[in-house]
Amino acid sequence: MKVLIVYAHPESSSFNGAMKNLAVSVLTQKGHEVKVSDLNDMTFNASLTRNDFHKIRNTDYVNYVMELKNYYEKGELADDILREQEKLIWADFIIFQYPVWWFSVPAILKGWFDRVLATGFAWDFGKMYDTGLLSGKRGMLSVTTGGPENIYAPDAPHGWNMDQVLYPVNHGVLYFCGIQPLPPFVAYAVFQAGDDIRKQYLEDYKNHLLTLESTEPIKYYCLSDFDENMKLRSGKSHSTISS
Ligand code: FAD
Repeated sequence: MKVLIVYAHPESSSFNGAMKNLAVSVLTQKGHEVKVSDLNDMTFNASLTRNDFHKIRNTDYVNYVMELKNYYEKGELADDILREQEKLIWADFIIFQYPVWWFSVPAILKGWFDRVLATGFAWDFGKMYDTGLLSGKRGMLSVTTGGPENIYAPDAPHGWNMDQVLYPVNHGVLYFCGIQPLPPFVAYAVFQAGDDIRKQYLEDYKNHLLTLESTEPIKYYCLSDFDENMKLRSGKSHSTISS
């Protein structure tokens, strides 16, 4: 496989850094080609602004959804966006390695989503989910948390389980663009865990990486499962599909 690791952590000696390095080494040894986008090291610009459009005409108002598509099609998006899009075109598997920050992703990764997954490149009107423009690719979230596993539950203080916390990225970003997400790898409470558990996390992650090719993606609905009013067609049951 051609694997792109999009890595978002400001410290190279962090646990996330260790997980990223492990993935590079395990996947390379298995014969996969691996590229890394180390967003902090690249000082990746996290803000989508009109500066991302070359030669934009002087105008009071910019419609970002439409101009992303327009400038993507003209090949006139900012160079750093184009470089990341080329890596995505190259990859058939994308790993996102990051710490859960505020139930979400670090801002630099959110900015990568905002800028790189442009209309016309990653999705388009009517071209989303199984028909998204990046369909055919698979991906996986590899995350760390501060909270322990048992704090992530509907009847626990955090109120959501980890599948629910990761749903906006797994479904709302990856699958929206056509990338089929595999079940995530989660290392809980890595700071409190202690060295033995952290070593076990790395061992478990290694095994998780070694089975990527045979792992089934999370099962989500196809766009055609919904009728013209965006309602699930009869016979399609919520109970059989992840939410
Ligand atoms: P680090 O702190 O870098 O490392 C943890 C430990 O691992 C350290 O002791 C380090 O020495 C050790 N280590 C490093 N490399 C190795 C190795 N190779 N082998 C063994 N040990 C190693 N948590 C939540 O659960 N939910 C939230 O919503 C949330 N929001 C946050 C928002 C912000 C802004 C911040 C800063 C934190 C938040 N957290 C949250 C906590 C955050 O998720 C954790 O701090 C993070 O996941 C820890 O990962 P890390 O890579 O930064 O770990």
